[in-house]
Amino acid sequence: MKRILVIEDEPQMRLGLRDNLELEGYEVETAADGDEGLQKANGFSPDLVILDVMLPKKNGFDVCRDLRSRSILTPIVMLTARSAETDKVLGLELGADDYVTKPFSITELLARVRAVLRRTGQQKPTADAVTIGEIEIDFKLHQARRGKQRLEFTAREFDLLRYFVQHTGQVVTREQILNEVWGYEEFPTTRTIDNFVAKLRQKIEKSPHAPEHILTIHGSGYKFVG
Ligand code: CA
Repeated sequence: MKRILVIEDEPQMRLGLRDNLELEGYEVETAADGDEGLQKANGFSPDLVILDVMLPKKNGFDVCRDLRSRSILTPIVMLTARSAETDKVLGLELGADDYVTKPFSITELLARVRAVLRRTGQQKPTADAVTIGEIEIDFKLHQARRGKQRLEFTAREFDLLRYFVQHTGQVVTREQILNEVWGYEEFPTTRTIDNFVAKLRQKIEKSPHAPEHILTIHGSGYKFVG
């Protein structure tokens, strides 16, 4: 199920969007201001963000800039109250994927959301090969090496590492990892995840006890930093 985060301060609009998106089969989380929006963008790891421009605390442009500066590439559809050309241009320059001008019809917004998800879904960073510190990893060939030294990973360790790389800069919970890396057919405990993370750290971190790449976020989960 695709997850959508709605950041909008007007309660009626926020609830209306939530209801309509849930009817379309999306899992929806909402935030009422820019700060809360940024927090939830981290914890909820949405597939798409609907972001109002005029927000208390931190406006939509700042939220957009913040997310992008932290390498969070989640697609963003901006809601701009003004039809001013400068708003649209600024939003797109800051890294928004599309915008809808208020007032809009829900049908139009849903069509934009679907289109953006389709477009960005195709270009999901698959990262066939990445370099993490001194380690080169080729996910396609299932090979990893540090300099000339070949490193051994199990298939599951590779899957987990790839998942982290695909979610670079985002906090992922143990539950998300269980669902998306292990899937529903198996029932490991969250403790299993911690053990696998420990093994990955042994292999990719310079000092596994002071990790620089797979960070523990207390009370939330893990965050991968490239
Ligand atoms: Ca607003």
